Amino acid sequence: MASDSLSILTENEHKPLPISTPKREQIDRPNSPSKPCSFISLVISSSVALSATIALAFLFFSTSTATSSSVNPVSTDHHSVSKSLSKLKRPVVIIVSFDGFRFGYQYKTDTPNIDRLIKNGTETELGLIPVFPTLTFPNHYSIATGLYPTSHGIINNKFTDPTTGEQFTLRSREPKWWLGEPLWETVANHGLKAATYFWPGSDVKKGSWICPKDYCMLYNSSVTFEERVDTVLNYFDLTSDEIPSLMALYLEDPDSQGHEVGPDDPRVTESVANVDKLVGRLITGLEKRGSFEDVHIIMVGDHGMVGTCDKKLIFLDDLLKWIDIPTEWVQSYTPLLAIRPPANYSSANVVAKMNKGLKSGNVTNGEYLRVYLKEDLPSRLHYSDSERVPPIIGLVAEGFKIEQTNSGIQECAGAHGYDNAYFSMRTIFIGHGPRFARGKKIQSFENVEIYNLVTKILKIKGASNNGTKSFAKDVLLPSR
Ligand SMILES: [Zn+2]
Repeated sequence: MASDSLSILTENEHKPLPISTPKREQIDRPNSPSKPCSFISLVISSSVALSATIALAFLFFSTSTATSSSVNPVSTDHHSVSKSLSKLKRPVVIIVSFDGFRFGYQYKTDTPNIDRLIKNGTETELGLIPVFPTLTFPNHYSIATGLYPTSHGIINNKFTDPTTGEQFTLRSREPKWWLGEPLWETVANHGLKAATYFWPGSDVKKGSWICPKDYCMLYNSSVTFEERVDTVLNYFDLTSDEIPSLMALYLEDPDSQGHEVGPDDPRVTESVANVDKLVGRLITGLEKRGSFEDVHIIMVGDHGMVGTCDKKLIFLDDLLKWIDIPTEWVQSYTPLLAIRPPANYSSANVVAKMNKGLKSGNVTNGEYLRVYLKEDLPSRLHYSDSERVPPIIGLVAEGFKIEQTNSGIQECAGAHGYDNAYFSMRTIFIGHGPRFARGKKIQSFENVEIYNLVTKILKIKGASNNGTKSFAKDVLLPSR
């Protein structure tokens, strides 16, 4: 890939970022009503246009792999071996995900508690790389399984099974959709306890994971974040044998605010400050129970966020001169354009006509969208090998949106779902606890590595997955 010219990937040129702009793959999960985007951005910097252009060059001309994992430490740790557990009998991992916590949000405001985890733990110096598409469900389930979406089956937040015609939505809980072996199942398979709090997919019964009452919460967005944290803390009041080895906790912020007002809005800064308070609540609660230094805390997000303001829109109806794309063909519009034409249409022909129109210079913003047969997508996206992925996929440049027709409405907000090579799609990774070296910085890696990290800490054998075998060994301190 043209990583040397691409702002989103040239890591060394992007020190602590000015977080740019502000909308959302609406997490319209049960009890989570969608909210209108109300923010109108007043700042449209020329750098946005420049980065979009550079990004475009990348999107359209890249050929090599980009997001390969690398664990070379940026700085070295000061310990050669992990500390012994003092209170707990066996290793415990709390993995907590803050939805849409874009890498760099931690610099927006004072975050003493996150800073404490970073200072005494291991972090990705330039963020954690999400899988493509950079959407909530695909990414949370990749973190949980170590698999790319085409392998774990959740290829979008919403999609249609081409063989049965059934539709997957964020409410779908039938095990047939959720492939692979998530961490909570792996833990249960080893006779250990797991506890999950709203982590996408965790309330699906799979194998020995039966989503046990009191250890597997069914999604309800009205449960306060404080209550979620306190429930996790209360597990530490159980007897040593009863404390779950894995606790997976999900919180919707700061994704909610990022969608509504965009990443540069003061409301996002406020949300980040609140996230930090929640981290503080977790730390303090563990300290009170004498378990903080024994517990492994992995703080992650699922993806980043980018602003979608101004006139960055592309309308499929503008392609009518070349080809008619009826709404029934389109499974998702933006940022991931996914099209399944009827069987009597040649997908290759549809792609050729769409790209001809887009490149013609006669389609507004046409140069910012490139359409592919899924098998021709860059291999680094790992997005070809599943029947569930529709045959035609469009990649749109960062911050642009695709709509069917020009409604005349221009929304300004924030979104994610774009190519995972965009720096704005990155999120955070911090590991703290006995197996994580203090003050260690590691290079960015894809979140499919996390599964192996957790199984290694818990000293259990994981299911096969897309993570690299050596990763956990390279990142973690050896156990005593
Ligand atoms: Zn979102």
